Amino acid sequence: MRLFAAVLPPSERLDELGHVVDRLHRLPGADGLRWTSRPGWHLTLAFMGEVGEELLPELRVRLARAAHRTPPFPLRLHGGGHFGRRALWAGVAGDLDELRLLAERADAAARRAGVAMDEHRRYQAHLTVARARGEAVDLHPFLDGMRAFEGARWEVGELALVRSNLPVSGVRGEQPRYEQVGGWPLAGSAGQPG
Ligand code: ATP
Ligand code: MG
Repeated sequence: MRLFAAVLPPSERLDELGHVVDRLHRLPGADGLRWTSRPGWHLTLAFMGEVGEELLPELRVRLARAAHRTPPFPLRLHGGGHFGRRALWAGVAGDLDELRLLAERADAAARRAGVAMDEHRRYQAHLTVARARGEAVDLHPFLDGMRAFEGARWEVGELALVRSNLPVSGVRGEQPRYEQVGGWPLAGSAGQPG
């Protein structure tokens, strides 16, 4: 199954972002973008791709350990950015050091469980709200709309394991796009080395 580790913001925080994204939907050019489905909004920590069933027990043990070593930390959705002309996203602010550490621990957990992880580029926390459909869309008006966004803060308290069901062409709405298949509480104490 296709898996990734993520932070799932609480629904109130996603609603705040939703209000901003609703406004972006009304801008010229919005139809040229593929808007991500709102119930699936997430902050990817570590993308694993296809993971064999036989690796799951060990993966779960190691992710639990990664969560256990990490203290809960504050985060808020903040501003936005883009990856080239491909993706438009909301950014985050708050304890980004702890977020990056959690991402590194999730990556290491997967690696040690035997998942073949890509060598990662520098971790850039983001929540993808839209992707280009193919033809180039000028993202500037959308970026202007995202930049002023400031969400309320919340306390990240869980490391989530999410299954991604890629859409099967010709079949619609058969299964959820993303499904949470695991979750472990962050249980480290602040100020202690991980
Ligand atoms: P789609 O691929 O249909 O556009 P998606 O990208 O949301 O949808 P997945 O490809 O399963 O679905 O990816 C799940 C999450 O992991 C997304 O947040 C995606 O941006 C991220 N992701 C996918 N591939 C990678 C990768 N190689 N490196 C880092 N993150 C990735
Ligand atoms: Mg993808």
